[in-house]
Parts: sequence; structure tokens; C-alpha cells
Amino acid sequence: MLDFRNRNVLITGGTRGIGAACVKLFYQVNANVAFTFKTQKEIAKKISNECVGKGKSIYRQVDVSSEQEINYAVGHFIKELGTIDVLVNNAGIWEYGAADNMSLENWERTIKINLTSMFIFTKAVLPQMIKNNYGKIINVSSTAGQRGEAFHSHYAASKGGMISYTKSLAAEFGKYNINTNCVAPGWVNTDMCTEVFSDLSYKEKVRKDIPIRRIATAEDIAGPIVFLASDLARHINGEIVNVNGGSVLCG
Ligand code: NAD
Repeated sequence: MLDFRNRNVLITGGTRGIGAACVKLFYQVNANVAFTFKTQKEIAKKISNECVGKGKSIYRQVDVSSEQEINYAVGHFIKELGTIDVLVNNAGIWEYGAADNMSLENWERTIKINLTSMFIFTKAVLPQMIKNNYGKIINVSSTAGQRGEAFHSHYAASKGGMISYTKSLAAEFGKYNINTNCVAPGWVNTDMCTEVFSDLSYKEKVRKDIPIRRIATAEDIAGPIVFLASDLARHINGEIVNVNGGSVLCG
């Protein structure tokens, strides 16, 4: 059942962290994978080359804060692959900002990259998913979207917005056999956390506070994403799958 042969998957932010782990895992289950990258063209090429012999692999540079670039890239991917069956809205940023001192520019950058890009990508793939009566949309939210996060209120708001958007789409498009779900990671050891985890005693405290006593790897998040994209999860729609080792029990 975990065979994505002839399925076309689009992943945003595919050269790093969770996005790169998704690209690799979807290849392992024989999907054709399209992914976007922001600046890392050489890494995109390397990842794509590593996957030769499995499904097709195409990639494109996209700044997800640009509606024009998103629409152009999705059009290109659909032209190349025929359809997009699975969309993983993964690209995002996590910036520091005290709520009483946050500029409108900072607020809007996070909302645009994390939340609005999801809307634009989703809108771009929906017509053909509706036409094909098939689609899986997986949005990478966060525990922050459910419990909030001090000094990251813009991030938490964007991730909470992803959750309510997910639930809305589940209700609106389920009738077209389109499943929309979220994966909500807790701490994941990726580039996003490099700076904060450079304080090793803090990193150790984070690890010890997680009941399962480990910090997630990117692969720990990619697995549930592939599961949600599979037909094993065909009756899961509008759910928030928390992947956090039991540290935030908000399901
Ligand atoms: P990461 O920083 O390695 O990856 C983020 C990806 O988003 C990168 O590929 C980056 O290029 C892309 N991106 C950012 N801004 C972009 C832009 N303007 N245009 C195009 N691409 C852009 O971190 P990650 O941990 O792999 O994060 C992936 C997702 O997981 C994010 O949405 C993040 O919010 C979420 N998440 C991460 C954690 C964590 O602890 N790392 C926890 C919860 C949720």
C-alpha cells in the first residue's frame, strides 16, 4: 500500500530538513517527485540525481513569498508530470519577535511565507485534483499552532491558521476524494533550530523534557507525512497529527 508508483507529489522547501526527508522518502516509495528550493540549486540537483532510476524528479527555484513564482512553478510541474496528486506545504520560517515590539514587516513576512504560500500552492493544485477526483494535501503546521509560542506569536498565528485552513478544506473538498491534513511537529533537529540548539545544555533540556527522550529527526516527520499521503490514511481528513514524542498532548 505504500507504493506511490504513478503518483505525483509536490513538496515545498525540498532541499533541507523535513522537506528533503520527504523528497527522499517519497522517492523510496516510487513516487514522481517535484520539489521547490529557495537558493540551494546544487543541493536540489544532488538530491534529484541520487534518485535516478526510481520515479521522475523535477525541481524548481521558487520564493514562496511570490504568488507569481508559485503559480508559474505549479503550472510547470503539472505540465511536466500531468497531475499533482499530493501536495506537501512544508516551506516555512521561524523568526524571533516580541509581540509588543514586532514590526508589521516582520509579522507579514512570516504570515506570507508560512500561511499565504500554502493558500496559493493549494489553490493552484485544487482544480486538477477536483477534476481527477483525487488529492492529498498535507500541511506542515506545529505544536505552536495549537498552544501558542512566546516570542514567536507571528509563527504560532501562521501555524494555527494552517490548522483551521486544513479543517476548512477537509470539509469543503472531501466530496472530491481530497484528504487535507496537518502534521504538527514539536522540536525537530533541522537547520531551523541550529542556532537555538547551539546551546547544548538547552538542547539537552529539550531532549529530557520530551517523554520519549529524543529530539525528532526530519525523517521522524517525513514518515507520518508519507502515511497521510497514502491510501492507508484514506479515511483521515481534517486531522492534526502531532509528532512530538509526547511532549505536547494537544490532540
Ligand atoms: P528548515 O529551515 O530546514 O526548512 C525550511 C524550508 O523552507 C527550507 O527548505 C527553506 O528553503 C524553505 N523556505 C523558507 N523560506 C522560503 C521562501 N521565502 N521561499 C522558498 N522556500 C523557503 O526547517 P524545517 O525544520 O525542515 O522546517 C520545515 C517545516 O517544518 C516548516 O514549515 C517549519 O515551520 C515546520 N516545523 C519545524 C519544526 C522544527 O523544530 N524544526 C517544528 C515544527 C514545525
